[in-house]
Amino acid sequence: MAGEPRVQPDIDEDLCTGCGQCVTACPTGALRLVDGHAALVDPEACGYCADCEDLCPEGAIALPYEISFGD
Ligand code: SF4
Ligand code: SF4
Repeated sequence: MAGEPRVQPDIDEDLCTGCGQCVTACPTGALRLVDGHAALVDPEACGYCADCEDLCPEGAIALPYEISFGD
């Protein structure tokens, strides 16, 4: 039951063309191109801003939203 409390962007390598737009846009440097595909190289840095998901022209990034946003 205990697992990762944080959710992270999920990058589909089959869809990713390696255009690098998400890497450029990521405000925290959490993304990098690895072997021609975007990769979440620093999950701790991801602020879950969803910029990468919004801009990816291929729809290769999906952020699995948490159910609760309560605060
Ligand atoms: S914006 Fe999309 S297609 Fe471009 S490198 Fe990032 S994940 Fe891949
Ligand atoms: S959600 Fe925001 S901080 Fe996280 S990888 Fe995407 S652009 Fe970077």
